[in-house]
Amino acid sequence: MRGIIISQTDFLRDGEVSKKGEIFKGDIGVDCQASVDFKAVKISDDKIYICGKITGVFILECSRCLEKYKHPFEIKIDSDMDFFNGVIDLSEEIRQLLSLEIPMKPLCGENCLGICKICGKHNRKNDSCSCADGDRENFIKERWNELLTGGSKNAKSKKKTYAPSQR
Ligand SMILES: [Zn+2]
Ligand SMILES: [Zn+2]
Repeated sequence: MRGIIISQTDFLRDGEVSKKGEIFKGDIGVDCQASVDFKAVKISDDKIYICGKITGVFILECSRCLEKYKHPFEIKIDSDMDFFNGVIDLSEEIRQLLSLEIPMKPLCGENCLGICKICGKHNRKNDSCSCADGDRENFIKERWNELLTGGSKNAKSKKKTYAPSQR
């Protein structure tokens, strides 16, 4: 991040200063494209109030399917800051706000089901591969076998339709 700096001399002409800045890849731990846009108001000789926002996207890797995706965000800036040697460097503040915004467990979408271990297809809700269906069928068959063979003393409704060894 190139220093996003406010200096006391910025306020010589006006009591309010607006600034914009770009945040680039490498400024924080993850790939991101973002910009910061804020207003600063002097509230005393050595103190200002800053209000504005950081908007942009993180480029993250989904923790389920491992695909890269864009995670948009908007972070409010709303704080008092003190001048230090006549300047305030907002870079560290912005870096911290951004770091807090990075999700601990990134997901490309609420309905990401991850990658099928059998065929490698990226599955989402309503979009599962046939292996998943096959697995489900096998699972149901196994459950039925359990029901039909073991622990079915009182089973009244043996399904005629399920007869694997009809000869
Ligand atoms: Zn995903
Ligand atoms: Zn599959």
